[in-house]
Amino acid sequence: MKKNLVLAPGPTQVPPEVLAASAKPTIHHRTPQFEAIFADTAERLQRVFQTQSPVITFASSGTGSMESSVVNLLSPGDTAITIEGGKFGERWGQLCEAYGVKRVPITLEYGDVVDPAQVEEALKANPGTKAVYATLCETSTGVLSPIPALGKIVSKTDAVLVVDAISGLAADELRADEWGVDVVIGGSQKALMLPPGLAFCSISEKAQALMASSKCPKYYFSWEKALKALADKSTAFTPAVNLTYALQASLDMILAEGMESVWARHARLASALQAAIKAIGLAMFSKAPSNTVTAVKVPDGVDGGKIPKIMRDTHGVTIAGGQGSMKGKIFRFAALGWCNEFDVTTALSALELTLTELGFQVAPGKAVGAAIAAFEG
Ligand SMILES: *Cc1c(COP(=O)(O)O)cnc(C)c1O
Repeated sequence: MKKNLVLAPGPTQVPPEVLAASAKPTIHHRTPQFEAIFADTAERLQRVFQTQSPVITFASSGTGSMESSVVNLLSPGDTAITIEGGKFGERWGQLCEAYGVKRVPITLEYGDVVDPAQVEEALKANPGTKAVYATLCETSTGVLSPIPALGKIVSKTDAVLVVDAISGLAADELRADEWGVDVVIGGSQKALMLPPGLAFCSISEKAQALMASSKCPKYYFSWEKALKALADKSTAFTPAVNLTYALQASLDMILAEGMESVWARHARLASALQAAIKAIGLAMFSKAPSNTVTAVKVPDGVDGGKIPKIMRDTHGVTIAGGQGSMKGKIFRFAALGWCNEFDVTTALSALELTLTELGFQVAPGKAVGAAIAAFEG
């Protein structure tokens, strides 16, 4: 009998109550009934983002919201600093280039974390920089960026700090207002425990002021249209009505647990994964491990590309391999969203079997035992 377990960084497992909520009949969106539902999600998302600023919602994948934070803040020829230490940081650079923005990349070795001093220097060397684009958890490497330190540096300048938190939101701690983050980007299919299809964006007053002078072309992703509609408890275009029902259900679960507890649960699961990895003699890839994604180096002599394949096809556990130049060199666990201790121990059992099958002997229960010990400790 086959059962499937997902510990990949999105789409993640969706709780049955969230799926059930999405199956309610679709109602018309220009009605007081839908407006009440939409306004409720917008208000409660502010608690997840830890902000008083408005949070807008797009029917798109997360990248749509990333693109919106380039086209609504900048004009062609503007300068932006992009922190590029993996596939998603590089996406910031590509988005800037697509719109004729002059990007100043801070390029990192994969697995390395940005030193806040690098950002300080780049801001000094490039006066007039309009925005700094960072990533909370660089999903491709498992690296957690030092957002509080970046917030302190950027908030002293005229630039805004934009953070791609698509994977990290509601997994790794993030306090938008307290930490001085002007724009936080989120997506539905990661720790928010929803199917793919919604993207979010919180927009500070400083970012709204910059928005007023932006000249990049935009239409669907216009923040001005979205903010005006939000004031009327609506979206500018047809919202994803059924995903909005699902969002209400996931917000019920997340806020009942509480943000501090949600972060603590992800920290507990990530620590257990790290302890298990160490116990079987493997090494972490990230020099600053997040709680969102645990990236592990493939041991010498093992065909790394086969690890996620055997895990999935033989054992029914979906994890992620490496992307781009990291293909075959790392594999990634994400105990993200609707995940608990036993999801982690199940996945680790499958890892033990998989590694042994690939010629890297692991004593049965060694990784699992280390994880259980970490939970007890
Ligand atoms: C998943 C992810 C994205 C991409 O989101 P899409 O929904 O695929 O557009 C962007 N950034 C990070 C950090 C991610 O983890």
